[in-house]
Amino acid sequence: MNLSSSLYTVKGVGTKVGEQFALSGLNTIGDLINFYPRAHEDFSKIVNISEIKPGKATIKARCEKISTRPVRRGLRLTTATLADKTGKLQAIWFNQPYREKQLKSGEEFYFSGEFEFNYNKYQLTSPSAEVASDMPIQTDRILPIYRSIKGIKTVVVRRILSEIRPFMTMLPETLPESIVKNEHLLSRSQAILGMHFPEKANDIKEARERLAFEELFQLLLASQLNRIDNAKLTGWNIPFEQPVVANFVKQLPFKLTSAQRIAAWEIIQDLERKTPMNRLLQGDVGSGKTVVAGLVACQVAHSGLQTAIMAPTEVLASQHAETLSKLLQPLGVSVGLLTGGVKGVARKTLYNQIASGTVDVVVGTHALIQKTVEFHKLGFVVIDEQHRFGVKQRQQLLEKSKYMPHMLAMTATPIPRSLALTVYGELDISILNELPSGRKPILTKIWSPNSRAQLYEKIEVELKAGRQAYVICTLIEDNPDNEMKSVQAEFIKLQNSIFKHYKIGLLHGKLKSDEKDTVMQDFANGSLDILVSTTVVEVGVDVPNATIMLIENADHFGLSQLHQLRGRVGRSEYQSYCYLVNSTSSKPSKRLSEIEKSNDGFYLAEVDLKLRGPGEIYGKAQHGALNLQIATLADTKLITRAQKQAKLFANSNANLLQYKQLATSVHYYQRLTTLN
Ligand code: ADP
Ligand code: MG
Repeated sequence: MNLSSSLYTVKGVGTKVGEQFALSGLNTIGDLINFYPRAHEDFSKIVNISEIKPGKATIKARCEKISTRPVRRGLRLTTATLADKTGKLQAIWFNQPYREKQLKSGEEFYFSGEFEFNYNKYQLTSPSAEVASDMPIQTDRILPIYRSIKGIKTVVVRRILSEIRPFMTMLPETLPESIVKNEHLLSRSQAILGMHFPEKANDIKEARERLAFEELFQLLLASQLNRIDNAKLTGWNIPFEQPVVANFVKQLPFKLTSAQRIAAWEIIQDLERKTPMNRLLQGDVGSGKTVVAGLVACQVAHSGLQTAIMAPTEVLASQHAETLSKLLQPLGVSVGLLTGGVKGVARKTLYNQIASGTVDVVVGTHALIQKTVEFHKLGFVVIDEQHRFGVKQRQQLLEKSKYMPHMLAMTATPIPRSLALTVYGELDISILNELPSGRKPILTKIWSPNSRAQLYEKIEVELKAGRQAYVICTLIEDNPDNEMKSVQAEFIKLQNSIFKHYKIGLLHGKLKSDEKDTVMQDFANGSLDILVSTTVVEVGVDVPNATIMLIENADHFGLSQLHQLRGRVGRSEYQSYCYLVNSTSSKPSKRLSEIEKSNDGFYLAEVDLKLRGPGEIYGKAQHGALNLQIATLADTKLITRAQKQAKLFANSNANLLQYKQLATSVHYYQRLTTLN
């Protein structure tokens, strides 16, 4: 028996069971060993319904009544009455209609879940349900709960795992022994046993720690090795010319913050090195990243090389092109704009200019990475709002140069330290930790939909003072299946009644590029008072005179997204306001309360990471590929430990290939996260 032996070699796995396992992607003994329980339930603590208290609880009960109804689009609520000898209670599940079939048998189940206040009463929320007769007779133990496999009862899964238990005791170590010892970790074998056959709560804790450590170590080692590989590459050498930079700074309409000066200096120094720069510039919304990129582009142009700046939306790309033209053209540095909206002859001409090197700085969207775009000498690549792009797209842009260009990724979504170490491990980081002087914190308030009229009054006060406003809605047009507000309907409503005497613009993703440009320009130059927009303005858009934002159905947005949206105001010395209108008048969510309390993007990103997982921050596609089963990227302590060991290992002369399984995973991650 070995890890790659077929499951059919295990006693109790016949054709039927084997086929069902295979359908769930479980084919070998190794697969089943790594089929970790999704939770563990402590069945030694079963309570009577009459004695249940708020918090986590397990009861042994029958289901008396159960039904499912739609609550709104995409949400079905299943409600059941559960009863034991001592009383009854309600349980609810979201989008789990199969519970009806499962529980209708009238059998006794163990239900385990959170007993909490929901929909106006105490209920057991989304409890797991395990057929009581499937459980071992002595219930004074902790049982692993597995993700359900169609056609196979949990008892059967547990029995088959018991069959391979002896094999688990002999699993070879996959981490270097010295690390296991120095970090006081369980051996791989002990950890696997701890997951599937824990005797006490601490067994699970230690098992999870070991397995999570291993996952993080693989990821961090991969980025260490990529870092070492990067250092071997040759890039363009761009010498620092003091007068060039001084000239640029002199003509700015403001004084750079010291954070901006430090970041620019870090970048300029990198450009002088032989190895290509890989740097992340992170700074909260409004901290002034664009001008830092502009300063560097100016230096790059003066050494005869080109800069490419890629932004995620057309609106943002054209805004950047405009900002940078104003700053750079007077200094003799030419700026071009390449988006999907640039067509025909204009596009051809631009291609030629890029290829011949007559344009120094090219700002664009994804259009930049097309095959047809060839640069003369691309020395510097800037990825704005980098979390909006995949690794692939970054790589494609970098490939447009003979030598590896220097890369600056910029993000306004502050990256929690843990993510910075893991998925961004091979980047150097510069931080803009201060806003330009004179900025006042944005005042944020959650608002009930019933008193919207007062909000309009507040908007009017700002408009009368010469300021501008954003109204943000989720939908483009009204939808009978969705109660949320749409920009089209709100636009008409506001224009025809409350704000009759003001000029209102409408912006959403379905408009043509030139229509978007016109609206955005009109708003930017003040000829529109109010912009009713979808989240297309979420990132980057910069209209400093706008001081008030109303976000409809605010509860439908993520925390980082709200913070980004809100960042469209508060970009000048004027006091700014952000009103979050809840969909209903019920209690606001934790998310909304957090955003109301704090203007600090770093803090909010940490909260978001805890509430929603790293997908939102790192970009969904990439995170999925990380394959983390046990580890979470919110576990800073464990990440720091794994980081230390990964560094030691990478810089020692240990041979990775000596650890076969480790090497396979590390190589996978290296390919996944590499920038080159
Ligand atoms: P973000 O970091 O969100 O990309 P931007 O680069 O769009 O921020 O800058 C936000 C606004 O602040 C812009 O209007 C920009 O001109 C202005 N700005 C940038 N740096 C400074 C500074 N040092 N002092 C005053 N205003 C600044
Ligand atoms: Mg920006």
